[in-house]
Amino acid sequence: MLYRKLLAALVLLVLGGVLSGSATALPGTGSQPLAHAPQVASYRMDVRLDPAAKTVTGTERITYHNPSQDVLPEVWLRLYLRAFRDLNTIWMRESGGTSRGFAIQPSQLGDITVSKLAVAGGSDLLAGTTLTDTLMRVPLPQPLAPGQSLALDVTWTSKLPRAFARTGYGGRDDTFFIVGQWYPKMAVYDRGRWDTEPWHANSEFFNDFGSYDVGITVPQEYVVAGAGVPAGEQASGDGAKTLRFTSDDVTDFAFAASPDFKTRFAKAGDVDVALYYLPEHEPTVEEYISTSVKSIEAYSSWYGAYPHPRLTVVDVPDDAGGAGGMEYPTLVTGGTLGVPGITGAVAVVTSHEIGHQWWPMQTATNEGREPWLDEGLTEYSGVRYMIDEGPKLGFGELGVSAAAIDQGQYAAFPDVPATLPAWQYSDTSYIAVYSKTAMGLWTLERVVGTERFRRAMADYLAAYRFKHPTGADFRASLERSLGGDLGWFFDDFLSGTGVIDYAAAPIPSDGGGSTVWVIRQGAVRAPVEVRVTLASGAQQTRGWDGRAESVSMSFPAGDPVVRVEVDPERKLKAELDVLDNGVSAAPEVGPALTLSGRLVFWLQSFVHSIGLFG
Ligand SMILES: [Zn+2]
Repeated sequence: MLYRKLLAALVLLVLGGVLSGSATALPGTGSQPLAHAPQVASYRMDVRLDPAAKTVTGTERITYHNPSQDVLPEVWLRLYLRAFRDLNTIWMRESGGTSRGFAIQPSQLGDITVSKLAVAGGSDLLAGTTLTDTLMRVPLPQPLAPGQSLALDVTWTSKLPRAFARTGYGGRDDTFFIVGQWYPKMAVYDRGRWDTEPWHANSEFFNDFGSYDVGITVPQEYVVAGAGVPAGEQASGDGAKTLRFTSDDVTDFAFAASPDFKTRFAKAGDVDVALYYLPEHEPTVEEYISTSVKSIEAYSSWYGAYPHPRLTVVDVPDDAGGAGGMEYPTLVTGGTLGVPGITGAVAVVTSHEIGHQWWPMQTATNEGREPWLDEGLTEYSGVRYMIDEGPKLGFGELGVSAAAIDQGQYAAFPDVPATLPAWQYSDTSYIAVYSKTAMGLWTLERVVGTERFRRAMADYLAAYRFKHPTGADFRASLERSLGGDLGWFFDDFLSGTGVIDYAAAPIPSDGGGSTVWVIRQGAVRAPVEVRVTLASGAQQTRGWDGRAESVSMSFPAGDPVVRVEVDPERKLKAELDVLDNGVSAAPEVGPALTLSGRLVFWLQSFVHSIGLFG
């Protein structure tokens, strides 16, 4: 999910930050053969959207396969819309009724009510259930043995809120609907326990894989953007029609509907890209399409192929911004910020949301417990895409880069660990999950090299696709692929409270300047390069593992050091204070400086002065 970032971006824009990143795109690592996901929780639904009542009524058959080695005497259902039923739910109390700057309308709340729950063709289960916040505990008449399946029949009504937090309605005459977190859904049994953490304000979702077959009945004039692929449409009488969508190897299903949707289609390799947009946003269509196509192609080449035949992109109305910038499997919502003439907003949002089609849609990590594996990896992906391909966010040449946005956001909370559970952050410090992880991964990429890093990420995905990996799995996978201990990155930086901060000590004027010192001022023991320029103009670059608090480097007498640059190529993207990274010898060394030495010295100083954030 992404929206608060853009507000901060506009602040940066007003401040006039004009920063840019640079890196080289490399060819892809080659796609792995794709296995299908385990069929743990599958759904067949028939639902009806009532635009006047703002409800979705439906029936579903849930087929749940016990994926564990444990006997399950009960199962748990998630009823997310209960978070919006009054102002006293956990979600509401934590959020204060706002999400990413959008506030709930207390007269337009949401809810979900289950009216039937039974073993398919069998006994009622509803009477024995217990509701707790957004969860329903369902004791089973017969325990579910390992490897066994259970079919449940459910009938329910969802009342949609005015869209302020991902789901609901808005737009012209309240005829736009984005329907997410909306049906009775299986919780996840993972590592010996049901994940019964209630829905928290900062948290998103944790889901099992399965298949969906969804029939959606709407008034005849509505256009429906469904996840998965369209699987037929037929009139259903009374001025209504039913559209079917099927989706395989996915963890969720969402759809949008509006009588105003226009469509545009494109191809990203073999993938169909379907854009559903509102007529007032016609000027953004090209940015939507080019971002969708190019980001699918980029992530496919970096991490492994997008594993579905179609990706649907949904534009949202200006008055329903809370519905924008959200990801579901095979469907994302975009956003234009509602600022006429702005460029780059659609690209920033859309490339981020499409990044989620890899993280977490293919890994299905637990976003509540380890949100950095989801938002952090995605934020990194989106920023790197934007650096390679995207426009600046702003108005033509007057804009900020996506990298500058993340640098600014990271700089606001550098001492906040990025690896906490979602509910341990405040609404504002939660941005550390995004930006600290993104700046860290970009740093790691630069330290080990782009090609190696992308191959390591692809290795991680290939090893853990469809498997609910944890942060420990991610670390072990990267250390395996990159061949070494990455404690400086995972412990010191991501999970720690310290920063990357190096400084070059003044060059001694006596002794010919042949010994220089570099000092580690931050707690993060990142490997770093040190480049010295000698009076002759020659340069030497040496590596330092950063483990000690300082290091000295000696050079033969007779060709004094005139310049020391710590991290001369600015690989350590997460280092905030680089003003002390370079130091020059006192001017009296001038007479010893050759012409080429002077030129190198001047160029170094110039590059340093303009390249702070390169
Ligand atoms: Zn996100």
